[in-house]
Amino acid sequence: MHKSSEVAIGDVIIGGNQPLVIQSMTNTNTLNTEATVAQTMQLVKAGCQLVRITAQGVREANHLAVIKKELSKKGINIPLVADIHFQPKAAEVAARMVEKVRINPGNYTDKRRNKTGFSEREYGLELEKISERLFPLIKICKEYGTAIRIGTNHGSLSERILFKYGNTVRGMVASTLEFVEIFRDFGFHNLVLSIKVSHVPTMIAANHLLVKEMVDRSYYYPLHLGVTEAGAGEAARVKSAAGIGSLLATGIGDTLRVSLTEDPVQEIPFAKKLALLYAKEKFPEKMPVSYPDYFKKETSETKSSHSSYPLVFSSTPTANTDFYQDKDRFVSKTGQSIQLKPVLSTEKMPVMKFSYSGIKEEELLIRSAVDCTLAMEKRKIAGLWIENGNPASVIKCTALSLEILQALQLRFSKTEFIACPSCGRTRFDILAELQKVQAALPHLKNLKIAVMGCMVNGIGEMAGADYGYVGVGVGKVTLYKGKEIAVKNIPENIAVERLVQLIKSNGDWEEEVDKTAGSL
Ligand code: SF4
Repeated sequence: MHKSSEVAIGDVIIGGNQPLVIQSMTNTNTLNTEATVAQTMQLVKAGCQLVRITAQGVREANHLAVIKKELSKKGINIPLVADIHFQPKAAEVAARMVEKVRINPGNYTDKRRNKTGFSEREYGLELEKISERLFPLIKICKEYGTAIRIGTNHGSLSERILFKYGNTVRGMVASTLEFVEIFRDFGFHNLVLSIKVSHVPTMIAANHLLVKEMVDRSYYYPLHLGVTEAGAGEAARVKSAAGIGSLLATGIGDTLRVSLTEDPVQEIPFAKKLALLYAKEKFPEKMPVSYPDYFKKETSETKSSHSSYPLVFSSTPTANTDFYQDKDRFVSKTGQSIQLKPVLSTEKMPVMKFSYSGIKEEELLIRSAVDCTLAMEKRKIAGLWIENGNPASVIKCTALSLEILQALQLRFSKTEFIACPSCGRTRFDILAELQKVQAALPHLKNLKIAVMGCMVNGIGEMAGADYGYVGVGVGKVTLYKGKEIAVKNIPENIAVERLVQLIKSNGDWEEEVDKTAGSL
């Protein structure tokens, strides 16, 4: 278990022996008081304990005071968190208005200047500049008792970090710790840390490495967990359970946000269930903190793979089954037959079987995602077999197996989508757009497609995506090929069609073919 110290965010305490804190973020326009207050109230009613609101500029930061006052009039005194990117001045204003400010070390002061290198001296000078820029914020936070989250995101690392470490786990940890050291130099410890990534194994590895580095330094800052840009629906919930749940299950994490491209209120029941199943008090004080080998990735940009491994096993055939049981043998759709025992007892690459006893669907999703993640951190597998105590659940279990394998980036059985949860910067209906894109491109197993709610952050944070579909204003979309603009500012009613054309013109389109089972 990662021991953390307590940090007060108004009346809510994060860390130490306190229960896990559930948080979320509004996606209304911050300047729309009525909408933001209403959504905050819905989140509170659902059980959210901390609400984050974007403050993209000084005007929005100032407006947080109006929102706070309106909430207070309605008897809601939930602590608020201001979400800041690029705007130190907005952070300084917000730190006077709300209980916590989230800053992104990748873009707090650093602007992209397309610099190709940093000498040691230049690197040091950059840090000195950041330190000077953070000093006023730290002074205000000390005066007002405001906490800070150093919220590192894959995809928005500074040029300085990218030059020294690349877009890597180590880079994300270094980016976080550079800021921690500056805060410590000023004697400020009211800190919560986070590293969020959409690539689940990288998110897990980065958090393990951050904990290891903190243990080495005897630091005890609480951790905020989240899988960013997880998207919507079951795939997003599987990613979140695999990433957040597996860390909680090893005693890491003090607060969590499940980021869904849905109404943020939908995040809360799932987050609560995760917190209930993997509550901190269930773990022994001295659980060893390890850095799992299998997920130890030095780069977080992993290409999709066409592999049909690991295989999906089940007791009876389903559309997603590669091998189903027939007495003491397993049979594939192509007629290959293998004996049960040797497969299950293969030492190096086992078929892992997870048996549950008829638990409810949501719990099955969470438990199987967490159990598989923890098991696969330790070893590679040849096949996965999930069952839930009754024949009626076989279809669900095989679909879930594919979803988990994709979340762990082990086997891609459909297009990989990443999508931001949207926030006050978003000016289009991101869930509707995501659903349109998903419906048009379900089968491109070799591609990762990002649907993002804004240009300011979206471009960096769609990290590693082959194509991007980015909202740039009301009803307007810009399409990206990698990080380059391909089609600018088109009406959203033709954007999906243009995305399909773009993919085809680049030779990345595949026709959908019948699923062919893999073989051993
Ligand atoms: Fe908000 Fe999405 Fe833009 Fe991030 S990428 S700032 S969540 S709209």
